[in-house]
Amino acid sequence: MATVTLTKVDKVYAGANGAEVRAVDGVDLAIRHGEFCVLVGPSGCGKSTTLRMIAGLEEITAGVLEIDGARVNDLPAKDRDIAFVFQNYALYPHLTVGENIAFGLETRRTHRSALAAALSGAAGARAAETAEIKTRVAEVSKTLGLDTLLHRYPRELSGGQRQRVAVGRAIARDPKVFLFDEPLSNLDARLRIETRTELRMLHRRLGATIVYVTHDQEEAMTLADRLVVMHKGKIQQNASAQECYDLPANRFVAGFIGTPPMNIVDGRVEGGEFESNGVRMPVGRLMAPRSCALGVRPDRMRLVRPNSDHSIAATVAAVERLGDRTDIALDSPWGRLLARVNADDAAHVRETDAVGVAFDAAHVHLFAPGECGARI
Ligand code: ADP
Repeated sequence: MATVTLTKVDKVYAGANGAEVRAVDGVDLAIRHGEFCVLVGPSGCGKSTTLRMIAGLEEITAGVLEIDGARVNDLPAKDRDIAFVFQNYALYPHLTVGENIAFGLETRRTHRSALAAALSGAAGARAAETAEIKTRVAEVSKTLGLDTLLHRYPRELSGGQRQRVAVGRAIARDPKVFLFDEPLSNLDARLRIETRTELRMLHRRLGATIVYVTHDQEEAMTLADRLVVMHKGKIQQNASAQECYDLPANRFVAGFIGTPPMNIVDGRVEGGEFESNGVRMPVGRLMAPRSCALGVRPDRMRLVRPNSDHSIAATVAAVERLGDRTDIALDSPWGRLLARVNADDAAHVRETDAVGVAFDAAHVHLFAPGECGARI
């Protein structure tokens, strides 16, 4: 277990024709002992670069990286006591499951023959160490439900099993910090959900410090003790998943966290009302006139009778029935809006129906103008 601290960390790549790419821009982040920290954001936001700098696979352009309070900017990757699990598993195809798991332990000793001895049980000069490796592989494979597969080769495993072997290899070494880069993205949807539950349980058992990168906000929310939302190389919010959802720090986070995404409309507030395209709705706060964006989550939208007080006139564009709930796309003077309602409340709704859309002022989020406009 360890803490990981980034202070004003930048990464600048020399891009094509001399242009610079600022992939990571002034990142401040303090990860506590045993915390499951997830870096999430769209492709290109700088999350993998951040992870690779922590791993020591990428040089840090500016700023300070500390592990357990010691500056490690210039420490080689192999000396950082970190385990890295990649998207593509990176298992050795010519080694069995047991040998793959033992590999991290064995590289410390460097002799493949001793590894073979460990797994076959043969006595050797370093018998004690060999026995220790064997015990460790047995423990790890039991933890991950791989104990019946130890003699198989990677090609004889399913995607989920391969991923578990990759995790097994990482935990066998008992490193200070685990780094995961999109480890579930090669798995099908069901296996991804199962494996993420396993990872969460494994984290609880190991109590390890984990830094985990994903572009999938749902995966991020289910795994994270701490969610770090990134965009354009900068941290947009660093909080619990619930806080990012309930109180998004800015418009970018509001639109990125939550499925389906929040409805966000540009307009103006004045004297307790928001106005866009000539249609006004109360926002519950008296405010001096200013441009801003209003956000309401789809499940906070209600369908009401056309022309009801404090409602927006809309036409039903599409109805998606998802079993217990129904998603209704609406065309309105505020543009396309999405309402997610209980299936029972939408039983009679049909495409082209004229309806009213309403929401409570308590569920309104307001943001300053611009892509990353701050929460007001
Ligand atoms: P993410 O993991 O969020 O998808 P990355 O950290 O991989 O994003 O990349 C962040 C930015 O840095 C992107 O604009 C990407 O094109 C750029 N980048 C990444 N690696 C390199 C590299 N080796 N050379 C130049 N630019 C890079």
